[in-house]
Amino acid sequence: LCLFLLLFFFFLFFLQLLCPSGTVLKNISKYRNANLNVCLHFQWEEVSIMDEKNIPIRTYQVCNVLEPSQNNWLRTDWIPRSGAQRVYVEVKFTLRDCNSLPGVTGTCKETFNLYYHESNDDRESYIKESSFIKVDTVAADESFTQVDVGDRIMKLNTEVRDVKVTTRKGFYLAFQDVGACIALVSVRVFYKTCPLTIRNLATFPDTVTGADTSSLVEVRGSCVNQSEEREEPKMYCGADGEWLVPIGGCLCNPGYEDKGGACKACTAGFYKAKSSDVGCSKCPPHSHSLRDGATVCDCHSGYYRADTDPPAMACTQPPSAPQQLISVVNKTSVVLEWSPPRRLGGRSDTSYSVDCLICQTGLTGTKILSRNHSLCLPCGSDVVFSPGQTDLKATRVVVSELRAHTHYTFIVQAGNGVSQISGAGTAQSVSVTVTTNQAVSSIQATDVTRHSLSLSWQQPDRPNGVILEYEVKFYEKDQRERSYRIMRTFSRSVDVTGLNPLTVYVFHVRARTAAGYGEFSDSLIFWLVISVGVGILLLISAAVFIISRRRSKYSKTKQDSEEEKHLNPGVKIYVDPFTYEDPDQAIHEFAKEIDVSSIHIERVIGMGEFGEVCSGRLRLQGKREIYVAIKSLKAGYSDKQRRDFLSEASIMGQFDHPNIIRLEGVVTRCKPLMIITEYMENGSLDAFLRKHDGQFTVIQLVGMLRGIASGMKYLSDMSYVHRDLAARNILVNSNLVCKVSDFGLSRVLEDDPEAAYTTRIPIRWTAPEAIAYRKFTTASDVWSYGIVMWEVVSYGERPYWDMNNQDVIKAIEEGYRLPAPMDCPVVLHQLMLDCWERERAERPTFSQILNMLDKLIRNPGTLQVCMPEWSVCEWLQSIGLERYRDTLAAAGYTSLDSLLALTHQ
Ligand code: AMP
Repeated sequence: LCLFLLLFFFFLFFLQLLCPSGTVLKNISKYRNANLNVCLHFQWEEVSIMDEKNIPIRTYQVCNVLEPSQNNWLRTDWIPRSGAQRVYVEVKFTLRDCNSLPGVTGTCKETFNLYYHESNDDRESYIKESSFIKVDTVAADESFTQVDVGDRIMKLNTEVRDVKVTTRKGFYLAFQDVGACIALVSVRVFYKTCPLTIRNLATFPDTVTGADTSSLVEVRGSCVNQSEEREEPKMYCGADGEWLVPIGGCLCNPGYEDKGGACKACTAGFYKAKSSDVGCSKCPPHSHSLRDGATVCDCHSGYYRADTDPPAMACTQPPSAPQQLISVVNKTSVVLEWSPPRRLGGRSDTSYSVDCLICQTGLTGTKILSRNHSLCLPCGSDVVFSPGQTDLKATRVVVSELRAHTHYTFIVQAGNGVSQISGAGTAQSVSVTVTTNQAVSSIQATDVTRHSLSLSWQQPDRPNGVILEYEVKFYEKDQRERSYRIMRTFSRSVDVTGLNPLTVYVFHVRARTAAGYGEFSDSLIFWLVISVGVGILLLISAAVFIISRRRSKYSKTKQDSEEEKHLNPGVKIYVDPFTYEDPDQAIHEFAKEIDVSSIHIERVIGMGEFGEVCSGRLRLQGKREIYVAIKSLKAGYSDKQRRDFLSEASIMGQFDHPNIIRLEGVVTRCKPLMIITEYMENGSLDAFLRKHDGQFTVIQLVGMLRGIASGMKYLSDMSYVHRDLAARNILVNSNLVCKVSDFGLSRVLEDDPEAAYTTRIPIRWTAPEAIAYRKFTTASDVWSYGIVMWEVVSYGERPYWDMNNQDVIKAIEEGYRLPAPMDCPVVLHQLMLDCWERERAERPTFSQILNMLDKLIRNPGTLQVCMPEWSVCEWLQSIGLERYRDTLAAAGYTSLDSLLALTHQ
């Protein structure tokens, strides 16, 4: 024990050596992982006191209020940074009211200073005061007096400061007293993280927030088990530990579905075929899944699924046999007709095939023949099936080119997508006998005289047996077949005599076999007029008219006309200056020429696209001097630049509204060219708001938004689409009146087909349809107006922070919208969301926006930050304690009346 005590004291002594001279090392508090030893100037004392509940607490106190020039330091141990980039220091302390200390005037202070010093060395024994960087001077919200001490009232202050620590492995904190009467009760050091979360089936790890209050940390998520990437999952960790803007995500693998952010296997009886965001589906009819995680359901026995059948389709069966097969023989053709099968097997892809067999005569009348019937042979390839032999959709087929006097059997089979897999064949057959010969062909006339000719022909292609003779039938065409002559011959030619000259004759030939006569040939028509045979060939030409239908533009025209504004009679319509052939004509129509001698330039106030913007004074004859802004076109400009520069004035000159920047005139007759507008003392709105962060009431902000909406309503009534509405293009005068300006972009976007791919389109402000296919309308201006609202309420924050343009487009496409800025009334955020409706027809009009803002201004009660039912909330907000909203609600304090019953305890 002695040895241990000795070692312990030796250790204490060693620690003591780490402190600078004049200080001692003390442990001031214990918290999470850091043992807070401090080196103590003798002036700081470790004192035990009782809190108001009479519980002893340890404090560090200093109270040298009588002596001037106090400089008492209290320093912590080295605190490891553990990856944090911004740490928060919460200090709890009490402070004595100087007024309550008699005779200390001048020397007593009511603040102390908080310092930090970054270091890799966790045991710096001595740190110079000058090495510490000041975080802040901390003042107490509450100080206590002698009376409070007597009453044992402890007025504890809690102050939190944050500081960026990025350069070393850790840091020291120090508290400098300069003559106050303070007791430090506790110090809590912490950093913020966006907690581990699962979004869109991707896991995002616990992530330390960025170093700056506006920085976003981009984090890639990893797909949860049994899922795969749909699109790279990404989120941003905001400085306050909130996750923002989820993009992309994962999809559960086949056989798995999303159940509360995890992919769970489909249970038996269910399946999921693809990676998708839909859940597992019940097995389709006639199928089942016995195990969990099925990607497809197995068919019940006797049911089948074709390779091309989707997994969601019921299992099916082959069809039954076709019904009522009938045949009609017509010469050497047979027409087969049948009815569809009684059972289609649950499918709609029934098709038919026809088999043709030549069977021995003895088999006539056999009803069913198997395909392999020993006494039948396939018909061969010369038989013609129309429209085809297999894969027939219709229930009719014409079989031609059959041999006469032959016994055929036709088997019609019905099949569908699962017939092959099932191996089942279902057929109906019919047997027919073809009796007629095939006709002779190629009849020719030769040796023509005024009264005779010789006819010759080819024998039938497939005569059914030996041809016994040919029969020639001929008649005068006028007579039709009322009187004809017949000649018979064994050879394939005949001399016909006794004909009348200058007469048209018709000739037919047919063959006869043992089975009888075949068909007559087609007729040969011959005019017996000259000595050389002339065949008359009638050619029938079919004229095919290709009626090319022009694509109907009706629907588009209708849509466009629907979109056309309903203009009030008498309202002026904006005229595009680019429709003037001569740009100078437009400028002189819409803008007044000002003599340069009446302008007095004073100073440069900004930089525009075409050159400097200056402020100055303008004195026109008979008018009082006014302040103006002067934009000039820098020397060396091209014709196009001149035209574009002056077009802004030609556009602006057409407007006359209190919320549109007013054009005073132009200088075009001497150089440099100038555009003179009214002077807006507070410059552009975005910079103005950033400069006055948090300094306006909600009503003032809404007043600004009202002005912009009113200007935009005027522009939309004039059918002018701005295309570049953004806070940077709104100017503010000394009365906080906002005016729409910058009328340069509309032309740029029309001229530049690549605008969307270059930096010309202000992506963050532009509606998706305008980015995608340049559909710029008043509705796309409304979208931009919503973004301006967000800029205004967030005091000039950059929309979508430092996300890149591609991510912004993707996020919007996926339905993400900017969240309500801090302290933004619910109604205003709702109005922004309405402006950001994907369907442009669903966005409000500027007239509706204006009405809405007017209503809000008339009823400021509706502009509460919290939900309307929260009356306590408003009160908490007014005293800066909204964070206790939920605690009070949980304790039952939901109305102002109930608050009156609150005691100090
Ligand atoms: P612009 O070319 O219109 O974007 O103008 C460039 C900058 O000049 C703006 O961002 C403003 O800061 C300033 N500016 C332009 N017009 C005016 C004006 N009428 N009154 C005051 N400042 C102006």
